[in-house]
Amino acid sequence: MRILIVEDDPMLGEGLQVGLRQAGFHPEWVRDGEAAWQTLAHESFNAVVLDLGLPRMDGIEVLRRVRASEQKMPVLVLTARDTAQDVIAGLDSGADDYMIKPCDLGELAARLRALIRRAAGAAAPIIQIGQLSLDPASREVRYDTKLVELSPREFDLLHELMLNAGKVLTRAQLESKIYPWGEEVESNALEVHVHHLRKKTATEVIKTVRGVGYLMPK
Ligand code: CA
Repeated sequence: MRILIVEDDPMLGEGLQVGLRQAGFHPEWVRDGEAAWQTLAHESFNAVVLDLGLPRMDGIEVLRRVRASEQKMPVLVLTARDTAQDVIAGLDSGADDYMIKPCDLGELAARLRALIRRAAGAAAPIIQIGQLSLDPASREVRYDTKLVELSPREFDLLHELMLNAGKVLTRAQLESKIYPWGEEVESNALEVHVHHLRKKTATEVIKTVRGVGYLMPK
């Protein structure tokens, strides 16, 4: 799950990046509002952690622009501004959740998981499709009730496919969600992960859509 962190405080930005990485996310970090807006205009993320007091463009303005451009990804505002008016302004500008600094990293990760599953139209914390179940919090996968050992990449790929079950995902969409920014990706890496996932579960779990990408049937 790719997360954009928008934070101008270097210590906090670094801490968020390390903490979210440990929780199994792929965080990218930008340090001002203009950079956030430029990044969001060109790249896709599963969720955004947005500070409000930012250089070059205020967080509320970033939020307004993102929503005006009809981007639907969840945005969690993380800020030191803690009056009721600030919370109302954030939510009314398109934020989905709000946390006051300093925040607990475990709670932030749990809120992001909740926002991401809600954005995918799911309410239950464990995703269940046929005989497969995936728990984003514990990162456990079971097939036919048996625990399946997956690499972090295989888990991320399966999570993305299960969240979007019934939709065809292109190779580029999948690669952008499972590889950190700027990482060199071997041209057949995705096929290899899919091959392993099918071997560890069942062949019919992931369908190949020729020339496009992959699909997990609902
Ligand atoms: Ca700030």
